[in-house]
Amino acid sequence: MAGHETRRDRLRKAVKKTGADALLVTNFTNVTYLTGFTGDDSYLLLGRDGDLMLSDFRYTTQLEEECPGLDVHIRLHTTSMLDATAKVLKAAKTARLAIEGDSMSVSLRERIAGKVPKIEILPTTGLVEELRAVKDRGEISRIREAVRQAQRAFGVLRATLRPDKSEIDVVVELEHQMRLFGARWRGFPSIVGVGPRAALCHAVPTDRRVGESDFTLVDWGADEGLYKSDLTRVLVTGKISPKFRRIYNVVLRAQTRAIAAIRPGVLCSKVDQVARDTIKDAGFGRYFGHGLGHGVGLEIHEEPRLATTSKTVLKPGMVITVEPGIYQSDWGGVRIEDDVLVTRTGHEVLTSVPKKLEEMIVNGSC
Ligand code: ZN
Ligand code: ZN
Repeated sequence: MAGHETRRDRLRKAVKKTGADALLVTNFTNVTYLTGFTGDDSYLLLGRDGDLMLSDFRYTTQLEEECPGLDVHIRLHTTSMLDATAKVLKAAKTARLAIEGDSMSVSLRERIAGKVPKIEILPTTGLVEELRAVKDRGEISRIREAVRQAQRAFGVLRATLRPDKSEIDVVVELEHQMRLFGARWRGFPSIVGVGPRAALCHAVPTDRRVGESDFTLVDWGADEGLYKSDLTRVLVTGKISPKFRRIYNVVLRAQTRAIAAIRPGVLCSKVDQVARDTIKDAGFGRYFGHGLGHGVGLEIHEEPRLATTSKTVLKPGMVITVEPGIYQSDWGGVRIEDDVLVTRTGHEVLTSVPKKLEEMIVNGSC
């Protein structure tokens, strides 16, 4: 597919700058991004003049279907991946090999060096991830689809939520509905936290029932086949306490302001700061202990990060989550999360689930 060739050509330019003859792509998600191949256990050798996929017997047909035109080296079951890699590197006369330092293990690196005499190995970091951070039109439309699936499932969940539903029931229902709306799978293990359990940023669902508290946090997303979506809402299932109202509105204000700050040229850390300052000024600074958001795409968490320490500048085509939260372990938590596309002139919020406090009340169900 032309799109994948364009990606590989962009990467080739970046590899050239490192002085290497070739890059061995060992991160399977990066291999998918560069080739369209959706299987595992395969490497891509990106050379100066051409590319070669290293895979095995199981994927022969799938590779023909998903990557027509790409040169493929299928290793036999009698040859290890290491030996196949060494053989290919020798055949290509690779003298300086760039590797993905965040993906290749130290032992694999040493074994390659042992098998290919005189090869010089140059660790790189984030070459493909940097390309992946900026989505093309096709990727954006797939993320929109993942958003649509997640949102429709949430609509059904809301309409059918009852006080006797447990956190596990909610997770099962949500993930089932996403699949009925066309998702291949959930984007990540859904987080559902009733009351105090909403304070656990990565709560694992339990038998706790929705009716046991006045609110339930739901963090969910779909995987449409390759690309993912990621949202969080807090549903009100009982009465709204003054404390809940206060915290909810602070989080919403922080999120709204941060989203308003999103446009090309702005530092990711600046967007994080806008939300953090809002929460801090309201007196809840120490209850917001995580980054504001992250890129979303082939992986649920990818570049760029909206964090205090991030040096990344926003570019058109980036898709990021904006998800401030306030958590108190004895009380609960509120997080509101949307997916935002950076456009040429500013931003577009891709998600559209209502989020005003009054809109979060689950009508008549609890
Ligand atoms: Zn999330
Ligand atoms: Zn997220």
